[in-house]
Amino acid sequence: MSGIYIHIPFCKQSCNYCDFHFSTSLKYKTDLVKTLVKEIELRKNDLAGRINTIYFGGGTPSLLDVDELKLIIDSVYKHYNVASNIELTLECNPDDLSQKKLKDLKASGVNRLSIGVQSFDNEELKFFNRAHNSSEAEGSIKRSQDIGFENITIDLIYGSPVLTEKVWLDNLQKVNDFDVPHLSAYGLTVEPKTKLEHQIKTGQFPVLDDDKMIAQFKTLMEKTKEFGLTQYEVSNFGREEFYSQHNSNYWKGEEYLGIGPSAHSYLEIDPPRRGLSAGFKRIWNVSNNLKYINALTNKEVYFEEETIDEKTAFNEYVLTRLRTIWGVQLDYIKTNFNTKINDHFSRELQPYLNSSYLQTEKNKITLTQEGIFIADKITSDLFYV
Ligand code: SF4
Repeated sequence: MSGIYIHIPFCKQSCNYCDFHFSTSLKYKTDLVKTLVKEIELRKNDLAGRINTIYFGGGTPSLLDVDELKLIIDSVYKHYNVASNIELTLECNPDDLSQKKLKDLKASGVNRLSIGVQSFDNEELKFFNRAHNSSEAEGSIKRSQDIGFENITIDLIYGSPVLTEKVWLDNLQKVNDFDVPHLSAYGLTVEPKTKLEHQIKTGQFPVLDDDKMIAQFKTLMEKTKEFGLTQYEVSNFGREEFYSQHNSNYWKGEEYLGIGPSAHSYLEIDPPRRGLSAGFKRIWNVSNNLKYINALTNKEVYFEEETIDEKTAFNEYVLTRLRTIWGVQLDYIKTNFNTKINDHFSRELQPYLNSSYLQTEKNKITLTQEGIFIADKITSDLFYV
């Protein structure tokens, strides 16, 4: 099973924490859509198997007209072997989801909406410099459901300097009130060169409070459990039939093709070398809209690539799998990695096996509820360097 990610690099305005690739000018939108279609055709032989997910991410994919989205979707159907039960996700901002747009999206084949709510609190939305307000966030969920979208996920952020425990509880309660079947919740991080970094450096807002972040993460875990959502990945919660197929494929190490400026691909190389994960390469496209358009128009190189070596494959396997309920499979490590890596893994794992942070079930190791809080430390201890 494999998936296609399509990056739509446009946004109405810049959120203060964001370091993704996007432009607030729509000047090249038409040319970019044409170029995405070109790249989809150009790379039609990169994925041999059947596609079971298409994911429009960004940026803000809901800024595209539905006709533009349809051009891209049709091109994928024309050139790839697409499963009949495809999961077709569109990341959207609440302020783009009018009733008409939602109807047209439904007709276009989009069957999963990922709505970038981030908060239902106007003060916090202002702090983030989001383009929508609280009532637009609520209205967009309600309208999506009324039009018949069942597979909806929303994003929320915790840990911001303006988020109180009460507002966080209110935000989480909305997930339950709207009966949203999937939630992605991320701790705020201060990325270099963002407006948020500047705001903190210049004293406009305090440095993020780690204790508050941990307390809000704890509340998140408790409330989602109460709402019947499973934490199937550290930051992702859902009812089983609504788990993100696209992201689950990433975490399970399946192939994916990334289309568009700044998009990454993870593809099997032929013939595979030692072990399954060691037989992959990563490709990343240029992070500049105009350079991407010009390079594809002039048939020039628009990406870089690297073969994933055995050490990197092992580290990535541990990093992604340990964060999920599918866990690290011991026989996978044994079969796919060399003796040195296996010896290292057994040695570093030992202290954790006797602790309350990891649990073993048959052949699988997963984080305990306590272990989730120190997932990053455990992963870095298990890394082979
Ligand atoms: S809408 Fe999303 S991609 Fe665009 S600036 Fe905000 S967080 Fe970044």
